[in-house]
Amino acid sequence: MNENVYDLVVIGGGSGGVRAARIAAGHGAKVAICEEFRYGGTCVIRGCVPKKMMVYAAHYHEDFDDSQAYGWNTKVDSFDWARLIRNKDAEIDRLNGIYENLLSNAGVEILYGTASLIDANTVRLGDQTLSTDKILIASGGTPFMPEIPGIEHAISSNEVFHLESQPKSAVVVGGGYIAVEFAGIFNGIGTESILVYRGPQILRGFDNDIREHLAKEIVKKGIDLRLDTNVTKIELTESGHKQVTFTDDSVRVVDCVLFATGRVPNTEALNLNNANIELGSKGQIKVDETSKTNIDNIYAVGDVTDRIALTPVATMEGHAFADTVFGNNPRLADHTNVPSAVFSQPPIGSVGLSEEQARESLANVDTYSSEFKILKHTLTENTERTFMKLIVDADTDRVVGAHMVGPDAAEIMQGIAIAIKAGATKADFNATVGIHPSTAEEFCTMRTKDAD
Ligand code: NDP
Repeated sequence: MNENVYDLVVIGGGSGGVRAARIAAGHGAKVAICEEFRYGGTCVIRGCVPKKMMVYAAHYHEDFDDSQAYGWNTKVDSFDWARLIRNKDAEIDRLNGIYENLLSNAGVEILYGTASLIDANTVRLGDQTLSTDKILIASGGTPFMPEIPGIEHAISSNEVFHLESQPKSAVVVGGGYIAVEFAGIFNGIGTESILVYRGPQILRGFDNDIREHLAKEIVKKGIDLRLDTNVTKIELTESGHKQVTFTDDSVRVVDCVLFATGRVPNTEALNLNNANIELGSKGQIKVDETSKTNIDNIYAVGDVTDRIALTPVATMEGHAFADTVFGNNPRLADHTNVPSAVFSQPPIGSVGLSEEQARESLANVDTYSSEFKILKHTLTENTERTFMKLIVDADTDRVVGAHMVGPDAAEIMQGIAIAIKAGATKADFNATVGIHPSTAEEFCTMRTKDAD
């Protein structure tokens, strides 16, 4: 038998592709996976994981300040960017190795290079030709950089993890997850951080009260937030700095300009035309609820399909695909009530509908919210305030949304998401005994409806 004949060829070694390849191989399929950069994908190599490490790094600054009130004599005088990057890179190398081991232990053939389609059953990888019964495209996304004069002087989230030195000042452009998270990281490590967003409030799509609350908090912490503003051009100065011109004609010279203006599906090199695969208006691969494209033997999962661009969603899609197609266990990925967090400082945790979405889709909506200073900060001089909100379908009493800005929001929201996924009512939340003293208990004790 020709050794380059497979049951499944997976294109892309990120979260979705790796999960699908492993599970399909576990179901007995002969699987090859192709990756052009490093196994682990955006999340592990240049996304969620290194980003979270940088968020931890950035938060120490505030923690050292807070510790004074608790008796510690701490003095922070410098931050060693190179040490952080070195340690972070070592951990990313380790995780990259783990991903490769997981694949080889599952019997998946690991290949390197940029894959493209020759036809619906043939993949080209360098000078190799792979024949396959099925193809899964999990090639992810890539940063979108708008075409403005001097954009070549800006970096994207691909480069920010490898800056040689800590910028003294940075302009971060965008109002989504990545922009808000990196503005907070820069601010926390002592880089002057200017966050520029073209709309009236950051984090479009999140609950409006959450957006307002976070904006207030990040400004209090020192981020220079400029709303209804965009960048019109970037020029390189003689000293190698970046001169940024804004839409209000003001100008700033900074060390670094980071564009976090969204991500686009990564399909350019794939030659999808050769298999007549249909794309959507944003260049995403169109799929049905089983992740199948318009071509019967070709599937796609993860960011390249532009459904919900989150790692656990891609792994869910990849796993459901492998079980359905190779495991004789047909099942669908469930895209409802997917929780997420923005690792801003303070972080956001969110699941279900925002108040605005609930009011659009439900006849009667009640909301409950609470803003307070957490116990820890009753001793410190930290003025940070925490905000929590529940959205309830008043006709059924079902809790349809929960949102929070405050410490440990991601950890807290994971548990709340289980309750919401299980269909918990406000009465169930009320009947649950709080853990005292904790921040999370507030979700069980909010009793007074917000005024309309
Ligand atoms: P987002 O889509 O979240 O945000 C993009 C931002 O850039 C928006 O504020 C958008 O504005 C703005 N923008 C788009 N085009 C322009 C332009 N031409 N000029 C100025 N601003 C522009 O993308 P991100 O890049 O932040 O993240 C991509 C995805 O990755 C996220 O949606 C998320 O799914 C995932 N992610 C998740 C994380 C997590 O779970 N913590 C962390 C990081 C990423 P507007 O709102 O006006 O369109």
